[in-house]
Amino acid sequence: MVNDMTRLLGLDGLVVERVGLDATGVPVVDLSTGCEQARCCPQCGQRAVRVKQWATTRPRDLPVAGRRVRLRWRKRRWYCSTPACPRRSFTEQVAQVPARSRLTTRLRQAAGAAVADGGRTIVQTARDHGISWPIVANAFTTHATAVLPA
Ligand SMILES: [Zn+2]
Repeated sequence: MVNDMTRLLGLDGLVVERVGLDATGVPVVDLSTGCEQARCCPQCGQRAVRVKQWATTRPRDLPVAGRRVRLRWRKRRWYCSTPACPRRSFTEQVAQVPARSRLTTRLRQAAGAAVADGGRTIVQTARDHGISWPIVANAFTTHATAVLPA
């Protein structure tokens, strides 16, 4: 399963299927799920067997080799197979792309660190990474809380 592009990208649990270029020459990275844990219900832990639907998510990420890339992760929504489980269905997630997150964990951390440790302003950092400033403000708060517990 693991190929060279997957190793280069380095997002645990995600496999690079192919890399194309969009109309403006930006690399578009098609990803699939490469982690068995992603199909286990987050509530009861049971491994799901029945797909409810497919969804495509486009989380923002750090540049790869200095180039901005566009990620496109085609993932499944599963029915939980435990009859009594209150969680009837769930979407695949991995540590680097939590459910409902619109950016990778490593981008969120880098944005928070750029403001907290790198002396960048929130607006500069948002522009650097092509994300909105409220997301950066939130990442900064998370980073500062982790680094400065007091
Ligand atoms: Zn469940």
